[in-house]
Amino acid sequence: MKEEEKKYWALAKNAEESRILHCTNEEMHERHMFVWSSLSCRYETKEELIAGQGIPEKPCVECGQVFGTHYYEPVKQRLLENNICHTCDFWRSKLEIRNNPSSVRIKGTHYIIAPDNPNRNAFRGFGGAEFNIRFNDGRLVTTHNLWCQGDIPKRFRERLPDNATFVEVRHTERDKILEKLIPNAKSDDTAE
Ligand SMILES: [Zn+2]
Repeated sequence: MKEEEKKYWALAKNAEESRILHCTNEEMHERHMFVWSSLSCRYETKEELIAGQGIPEKPCVECGQVFGTHYYEPVKQRLLENNICHTCDFWRSKLEIRNNPSSVRIKGTHYIIAPDNPNRNAFRGFGGAEFNIRFNDGRLVTTHNLWCQGDIPKRFRERLPDNATFVEVRHTERDKILEKLIPNAKSDDTAE
C-alpha cells in the first residue's frame, strides 16, 4: 500500500460535533470527511486511539458526542466520573454559578464580572473597557473587568437564560474624552 493511501485513526471535533475519523492523511488534513476545528494526533489502530485519547465507552451525557479525556488531573478524573466531555463540563461549571451576582448572560453569550483591579498593569477583561450592565433583577453594575466565556451552546441555553442587558454608555464615554481634550469646556448654561 502506498503511504498516501494508508488510513489513520484520529479524534476530530468542531463546535457542533465530534467524530472518530478513519482516513488517509490527505483526507484528514484537507477536511474531506469532516470539517474539524481540532484534531488529535493520528494513530495506527482504533484501539490505540481509544487508549491514547482516553475515549470512554459511552458518549457524553450532555451532548451525546464521542469525547476524549486526555487532560491534566483533576479534570480527567472529573470527565471520566461524570462521563462528560470537556466542553459540557465547562458549561456545567457555569450552571453552578448561574445565580452568582457575577454571572452575566446577554443575548446567549456568557460573561463573568471579575473584581475591578486598581493595578493598571493587571490583566483586565476587554483591556479594562467600561461596561454598564443592567440585570433583570434591577441591579445596575459598572465594571472595568468583564470577561467573556463565549456563546452558550444551545443545549445549555434554557438552563442559562439571559439575565441582563448592556446599557449604552456612548455619551458618558464621549463626555469623558471631551473633558480630557478640552479641560475648560463648559456647557452653555454654565458659561459666564
Ligand atoms: Zn458534551
